[in-house]
Amino acid sequence: MRQLTCTASGAVEWCDVPDPTLDGPGDALVRPVAVARCEIDPLLVMAGPRAADGPGFGFALGHEAVVEIVALGPEVGAGAGAGAGSRLAVGDLALCSFQVGCGTCGPCTGGRSAVCAALPLLSDYGMQPLSGVEYGGMLSDLVRVPHAATMLVPVPAGVDPVQLASVPDNVVDGYRSVAPHLAASPGLDVLVVIHGNRSIGLYAALSALALGAGSVTVESDDPAVLGRAEALGARPVVTDFGRHQARYPLVVDCGTEGRGLLHAVDSVAHEGVLHSVSYYLDPSIVLPLGKMYTRGVQLHIGRAHSASSLPEVVGLIAAGRLDPAPVTTSVIGWDEAPERYLDDTIKLIVTR
Ligand SMILES: [Zn+2]
Ligand SMILES: [Zn+2]
Repeated sequence: MRQLTCTASGAVEWCDVPDPTLDGPGDALVRPVAVARCEIDPLLVMAGPRAADGPGFGFALGHEAVVEIVALGPEVGAGAGAGAGSRLAVGDLALCSFQVGCGTCGPCTGGRSAVCAALPLLSDYGMQPLSGVEYGGMLSDLVRVPHAATMLVPVPAGVDPVQLASVPDNVVDGYRSVAPHLAASPGLDVLVVIHGNRSIGLYAALSALALGAGSVTVESDDPAVLGRAEALGARPVVTDFGRHQARYPLVVDCGTEGRGLLHAVDSVAHEGVLHSVSYYLDPSIVLPLGKMYTRGVQLHIGRAHSASSLPEVVGLIAAGRLDPAPVTTSVIGWDEAPERYLDDTIKLIVTR
């Protein structure tokens, strides 16, 4: 089968690889039909395969997808009896968790599926360099999905499946940065500071609007981000990430730059929440912990939990309360993926 593969730093090409097979009774085989580019993908491609994997090694790309179910093992599907897997059927469209998890260990059943105890940390599709394990990538003709009963969530009727491609990762990532805080304190005024990883911050703003935030402000130095934020219904504010312009009880930090993070910290109201969806490569970034202690800034940081969060987010989409489509900036054809996967655009979706 054909698999979009990163074969060297900056190099993306179709490669022929063996078809995956149903290896366990709880497995599914799926055919991705729409794949969104995650914010990490360009970084993975530029870094290229790990030297430890030797010359000629390439890794599969793509981990945010809407898939068609092609085959199901005997423990999933309508014939398998009651349980989450019984709602899956061959031919149906589903969203697939980008993180591979067992669905039954303590972390998986406790809503923390990103740290499944049964698999190595960072067991994800399309990210072999992070875990060292190749699970396959969504820009492929077929993908094996173990533990399909918890990994797959059916696409709701009546929505454009292509526009849901980013839901398993970047949409869920934005959502979880605001949802628990707005549930605890409804109507909070929300600030999203965006200095990179643009779509995740915009999905956070979109989620805050959907969840009834008192107001949603997006601060950025990126005109494309501010234009898109305004189109979503958020209030766009230009910043150079210097002194705060106002303080908010809930601030989302989204990006890659230390000065952006410090601006986000500075923009939190006393005893407010700072939720960072950012991974900082630079180990020299220093947080003003003394100031944060005195002002009571509550810092949340960590990965999203894709399988745990998908049912809740898909429920909002099915109810017509959340629509990720306005963040999409480019939809391209499947065959264009090698040439266009690194296009400079906020949210790229590849579809068949
Ligand atoms: Zn991702
Ligand atoms: Zn698990």
